[in-house]
Amino acid sequence: GAKRDGGGRFRFFEPEMQARVQARRCLEADLHQALRKGEFELHYQPLVNLAQGCISGFEALIRWRHPERGLLCSDTFIPVAEAMGLIVPMGKWILSRACMDAASWPEGLKVAVNLSAAQFSDSGLTDAVTVALATSRLAPGRLELEITESLLLRDTEDSVAVLHRLRASGVSISMDDFGTGYSSLSYLLKFPIDKVKIDRSFVLAMDERPEGAAIIRAIAGLCQTLGLATTVEGIETPEQMRQVASQGCTEGQGYLFSPPRPAAEIPAMLAQWRYRECLAS
Ligand code: C2E
Ligand code: MG
Ligand code: MG
Ligand code: MG
Repeated sequence: GAKRDGGGRFRFFEPEMQARVQARRCLEADLHQALRKGEFELHYQPLVNLAQGCISGFEALIRWRHPERGLLCSDTFIPVAEAMGLIVPMGKWILSRACMDAASWPEGLKVAVNLSAAQFSDSGLTDAVTVALATSRLAPGRLELEITESLLLRDTEDSVAVLHRLRASGVSISMDDFGTGYSSLSYLLKFPIDKVKIDRSFVLAMDERPEGAAIIRAIAGLCQTLGLATTVEGIETPEQMRQVASQGCTEGQGYLFSPPRPAAEIPAMLAQWRYRECLAS
């Protein structure tokens, strides 16, 4: 509760707040160290071409191999890395690592890399992309950059220019978590993008009531008209897959096919890939 300190000012929840500030400072220091010590790794989740039943690429998702706490998922540290600005140097490492990894995969397989808002507004982004591609010798057409609607919300004019510049270098742009932000539909016309990733919440809505599928069908149809590819995120069951596949989407992604796996497991994943076995059950 509120306490009166020596100077007569009120201080609220002091011990709890101090503990939280302390924990946050520790995490920030740890994150800096982690980048220098190479404790981050990229895991990869397959993107599945629904018409052909084959893997068309992988999305890179960052993990932190923490010396004491084990393998940590992105949501435990990405927001902090964003808030402290560390996401910019971290993002450069992610781009380089992902391009290097993808360069060792069979030709034609793409790699998708998530971008944070701070990276997107950083003037060094195009250079970072160019350097990652040049160093890895990955064909630019094999790199997809995932951005979100909320990231574009900030500064429309500039964002359009950045997107044009990125696409001019040969990479493609995907709109991630589509449908969770504002003005979604107008964004499809306003911004030069190549693919829309339909958010997992629409797959969940589909489970709740049949009309849920209508939203996916509508987005997929609109994207088709606009010449955009579509990926449905968060497919966990064969039943969801069956419904999604009939809605005219290009790709699926989700635990049904595979959770994100370490880079070293990709050759085995490709060798053992059986689309129809995923759907059977
Ligand atoms: P996202 O880009 O939308 O990534 C999809 C998230 O959904 C991933 O969580 C993935 O593991 C999870 N997912 C995939 N399939 C399923 C499924 O079938 N069911 C459910 N419930 N979840 C599924 P993850 O790896 O924890 O990443 C969370 C978010 O953190 C990402 O969302 C992305 O916004 C951010 N993130 C992850 N890696 C990076 C990165 O390298 N850079 C940046 N800037 N952000 C990243
Ligand atoms: Mg993503
Ligand atoms: Mg997503
Ligand atoms: Mg998401």
